[in-house]
Amino acid sequence: MLSVKQRQTKLKDLGYYKGKIDGKVGTLTKKAYKNLQKDYYTRKKDVDGVYGKNTDILLNSVWNVWAFGKNFDVKGDKLYCRCNGKYCNGFPATINENLIKNLQKEREKFGATSVTSMLRCKKWNKIQGGVSGSLHTKGRAVDFRTPISGTLDGRKEMINYWFTLTKPNYGYCNGFYRKGKKTGTKKAPNMGISTHCDVK
Ligand SMILES: [Zn+2]
Repeated sequence: MLSVKQRQTKLKDLGYYKGKIDGKVGTLTKKAYKNLQKDYYTRKKDVDGVYGKNTDILLNSVWNVWAFGKNFDVKGDKLYCRCNGKYCNGFPATINENLIKNLQKEREKFGATSVTSMLRCKKWNKIQGGVSGSLHTKGRAVDFRTPISGTLDGRKEMINYWFTLTKPNYGYCNGFYRKGKKTGTKKAPNMGISTHCDVK
């Protein structure tokens, strides 16, 4: 977990903390924990103002998107788990730094990007038909669309570009997949025109 000083620094970056970076958990620090939770947790019973493992995951997720995904917004782009508080607080895993960096690069190359799915808790992943152990449950996968994703050639280009970025692992869409240097065809009609990309 982050040290208190690290938490205060990140909370300050995000506008939640106005006090000194002193490593002491005082009133302002506690208030910042709670306001962060209030703003992002999709299950309100999790808002307790206590900084534990879950709040650490939340803070790192929100901060990573703030720091590395300037065209993205955790809430506006619904990067949280879309079970909407039914099975989790919305943040079952930390949004990986390289995932959001790569997604931002895709955005800069291809234009307006909409995320169809990022974080998923295990239950929501199963309901969505995701494979067990899916990287969506680990904060390392994203399904998204760009202005060129309407055609197979466009989706291939998005996937191949992903493999020029940081720590690419796997990419697929309806019609194509790539894993390392290996490519092939894939039937994934449930994906529509979305593309799945993940990082190691
Ligand atoms: Zn969930």
